[in-house]
Amino acid sequence: MTDAPEYDLIIVGGGMVGAACALAAAQSGFRIALLEQQPPTAPGDDWQPQVSALTRRSQDLLTDISVWSLLKRKTAYQTMRVWEDNRCNEICFQASDLPAPDLGHIVENACLVAALWQLLSQSDQIDILFGKQITKLTCTDQGSQLHCTDQTCLSAGLVIGADGAQSTVRELAQIGLERRDYAQQALVTLVRSTEPQHPTTAWQRFLPHGPLALLPLGTHHYAVVWSHDPAQATTLQTQSAADFMQQLHQACQHCCGPLHLAGERYCFPLRRQTALHYVRPGVALIGDAAHVIHPLAGQGVNLGLADAQVLVRTLVAARTRHEPPGRFAVLRRYERARQGQNRMTRFGMDALHHLFTHPRSGIQHLRKAGLGLVGRSKVLRRALERIAAGR
Ligand SMILES: Cc1cc2nc3c(=O)[nH]c(=O)nc-3n(C[C@H](O)[C@H](O)[C@H](O)COP(=O)(O)OP(=O)(O)OC[C@H]3O[C@@H](n4cnc5c(N)ncnc54)[C@H](O)[C@@H]3O)c2cc1C
Repeated sequence: MTDAPEYDLIIVGGGMVGAACALAAAQSGFRIALLEQQPPTAPGDDWQPQVSALTRRSQDLLTDISVWSLLKRKTAYQTMRVWEDNRCNEICFQASDLPAPDLGHIVENACLVAALWQLLSQSDQIDILFGKQITKLTCTDQGSQLHCTDQTCLSAGLVIGADGAQSTVRELAQIGLERRDYAQQALVTLVRSTEPQHPTTAWQRFLPHGPLALLPLGTHHYAVVWSHDPAQATTLQTQSAADFMQQLHQACQHCCGPLHLAGERYCFPLRRQTALHYVRPGVALIGDAAHVIHPLAGQGVNLGLADAQVLVRTLVAARTRHEPPGRFAVLRRYERARQGQNRMTRFGMDALHHLFTHPRSGIQHLRKAGLGLVGRSKVLRRALERIAAGR
């Protein structure tokens, strides 16, 4: 490439991870083109069930880029109660053990995207381009070119794929994928309690077919995330509200008192996938474009935000050494820093998934013994609390 590229970075995908990356990079002085299919939909007046449990590390990152205070709806949770058969054997994780003000926050995805976009659209460093269809990627250490169906060609020092699980950037860069379906769907919905119950407690029950989580939203609402085999998930989605609520009350053992259905029911297929490489010369993948994990411990966005943070820091350090952002050696620093932690989290989620859904009685005994041990051991509980809080 002879001419200087138009942009330092082209970021494809303005979801939670791509938008956070664009903002952090713009605030570090990079010139950016951000490609997104369409403007994000504004959050409604009331809670939506698509939420994420964000760790303190993610909160710190969003505070650093001035987004945290703009979040319209967020709920801190100080306690997490986890159990299997019987609430008498539940394990209680508490922020006060750490000590910390909370274990994390439940944030509505649409509110987070809206807060990020509020700042993105005010930045002079970012050109936002909607609706471009990318067809070809030419990438080298010195820079990359992105060709679109409208015959335009954008050039940058580095193209960042933040375009989610079905990433086109990953495909155009010919980066392979390791993928496994869990043969499960996550049913997601919103319920409302008539009385404020435990507004700072998150609940998770491990059932034989998958975990059920109730995450507090404000004082009266909970987001339900219920993993099931696909046939049963469809039944739960389509049955009457009364039948659904009866099953939910039974499954959660009335942990939050009487609840009412307060939103649509959505189903998401659950799978695990990992890009075989996060980087190529001139290209880097972040967020779900690089890795998708089981949502049972709510870590997907947290890992993606950490990818964005580490990538931007790596690029800033490279700039001070006059290294081009697309240089493979630079990008490998990012890959090395992130791949290990992301893999560990994925193995942890896989192990938990198998441990709790395995039908063999030997495994079940082992699991119950393990849960009992965690319940009795302050040291183990504290270690898990630290992981949950992203410390
Ligand atoms: C049921 C469920 C519950 C979850 N709960 C949690 C939780 O509690 N905590 C947590 O941390 N994670 C959770 N996750 C995971 C989390 O939702 C994902 O990890 C996260 O959404 C990934 O964000 P992303 O920005 O990488 O990708 P996405 O959210 O998929 O965003 C990708 C963006 O790229 C855009 N795009 C795609 N292709 C193109 C293109 N060709 N050109 C331009 N733009 C493009 C899309 O429009 C979109 O805006 C959960 C997931 C599920 C399924």
